[in-house]
Amino acid sequence: MNQILPTSTVGSLPKPSWLAQPETLWAPWKLEGDALVEGKQDALRISTKEQSDRGIDIVSDGEQTRQHFVTTFIEHLDGVDFSRRETVRIRDRYDASVPTVVDSVRRAAPVFVDDAAFLRQQTDQPIKWALPGPMTMIDTLYDGHYKSREKLAWEFATILNQEARDLEAAGVDIIQFDEPAFNVYFDEMKDWGIATLERATEGLSVETAVHICYGYGIKANIDWKASLGSEWRQYEESFPLLQQSTIDIISLECHNSHVPIDLIELVRGKKVMLGAIDVASEKIETAAEVADTIRNALSYVDADKLLPSTNCGMAPLPRDVAFAKLSALSAGTRIVRDELSSS
Ligand SMILES: [Zn+2]
Repeated sequence: MNQILPTSTVGSLPKPSWLAQPETLWAPWKLEGDALVEGKQDALRISTKEQSDRGIDIVSDGEQTRQHFVTTFIEHLDGVDFSRRETVRIRDRYDASVPTVVDSVRRAAPVFVDDAAFLRQQTDQPIKWALPGPMTMIDTLYDGHYKSREKLAWEFATILNQEARDLEAAGVDIIQFDEPAFNVYFDEMKDWGIATLERATEGLSVETAVHICYGYGIKANIDWKASLGSEWRQYEESFPLLQQSTIDIISLECHNSHVPIDLIELVRGKKVMLGAIDVASEKIETAAEVADTIRNALSYVDADKLLPSTNCGMAPLPRDVAFAKLSALSAGTRIVRDELSSS
């Protein structure tokens, strides 16, 4: 990547309304069979073109081929029964009816590799693919088999590593793991969470990223954020460990959040995917606001290690809003690029 301050998104983008219900998480597909396969590929084409036209340098799939960033991956694994549901508390924040682990978990076949190969054909730009992290995966399941969050996380780490190696072979340039659970379960994260994440990335030669955030702009998350006080210092728990880890890129939430920006200093030496776009608001950022966020971060991360991005995924936003936010991200980034090249 020769571009200074390469832009990217955390991952998800809204789907076309003919493919899935807009502004809805876990929206059911509107097509089936071959029409669904073709529809997902068409959506992937559109999402790739929109990102490219709007100046996004590192292109993602926009999660156009998945219903949800965690559930869709788990659906493809053996050992999980989706007809047996239990209600559990997700990330200690909201109750959800989740599937049950009934047997040893196993990846019978690659999950996203065909989709990633298709994305690879659509663009010459670097591509990034996101997978759920082990700790976030176990947090969306009822475990009736291993009866141990740690044991199940290690099993998922092995499976994720198989998938990640296949994604690398399919031409993915950056593999990202989404671990919002790192902002919630500090003890487990320290005991085995970081270690299972590193296990998931073992043997990869492509760059690896971890995304830790305060979640989509849904009510449960907005209520949770309101309870966190005026300074959000959750990253203080994970960043020193990630700084010492084998992970290359740390993705964090910044714009409109109460994260003290100097916490970025804790991952000095790593690349930083900086959230400069608020995904919990439909207000489009101005280029000046984006530039401000980037400039502030540059006190704590070297310019050649900064990747301007979104705070989280944008799947629940109206489509025109999400696309306009992509344009704002690149416009703001261009301002800072110009400043850096003239200084
Ligand atoms: Zn996120």
